[in-house]
Amino acid sequence: MKIGLYPGSFDPITYGHIDIIKRALKIFDRLIILVSVNPRKRTLFDDIERIDMIDHALASCKDKIEIRTSNTLTVTHAKELGATHIIRGLRALTDFEYEFQMTHANRQLDKSIDSIFFMTDNKYSFMSSTTVKEIAQFNGDLDTFAPPYVVEKLKNKYK
Ligand code: ADP
Repeated sequence: MKIGLYPGSFDPITYGHIDIIKRALKIFDRLIILVSVNPRKRTLFDDIERIDMIDHALASCKDKIEIRTSNTLTVTHAKELGATHIIRGLRALTDFEYEFQMTHANRQLDKSIDSIFFMTDNKYSFMSSTTVKEIAQFNGDLDTFAPPYVVEKLKNKYK
C-alpha cells in the first residue's frame, strides 16, 4: 500500500488544499494529513478546529484519509507512519524557493523519504489560507475559496 504524508497548517483548509489531496489520491492508496501544531506559530484556528474542518471537507474520501497532528519532524512522522513520500503543493514561483530548501533538508535527514509536488487547477493557484482569512476579515465572498462549513467557521471567527 502506498502512503503519502501531506503536511501543512491548514489554517483553514481551502479548495486549493482539497485539489492537491484529490490529485494525490490518484497516486497514493492512503493519505495522512499532518496538521502542524507549532506553539510559536500563531494560527487563527486551533488544532481541534483545523482537524474538524478537514474532516468535514474530506468526508467523501474518509476511508483513504487519516488526520494527525505533528509534534516532530515531518520525515520522522513519515517513517513512523509508513509513508514513502511527503506531498506538497506548488502555486506561484514564490513557493519554489521554500520547497526547494525543505526538500533538500528533508532528504539530508532521511534519504528514504522523497517529496512529490502537485500543481492545483489554475483557478486555485493564487489561493492561500492567508488570503482566505483576509477576505473573511472584510466580509468578502468566500464561496469559491473554501467549502461552506469552513466559510461558516470563518464568518463566526470574525463576527
Ligand atoms: P498556506 O501556505 O496556505 O498557509 P499550508 O501550510 O497549509 O498553506 O500548505 C500546505 C501545503 O499546501 C503547501 O505545500 C502549500 O504550498 C500547499 N497549498 C496550499 N494552498 C495551495 C493552493 N491553492 N495551490 C497549491 N498548493 C497549495
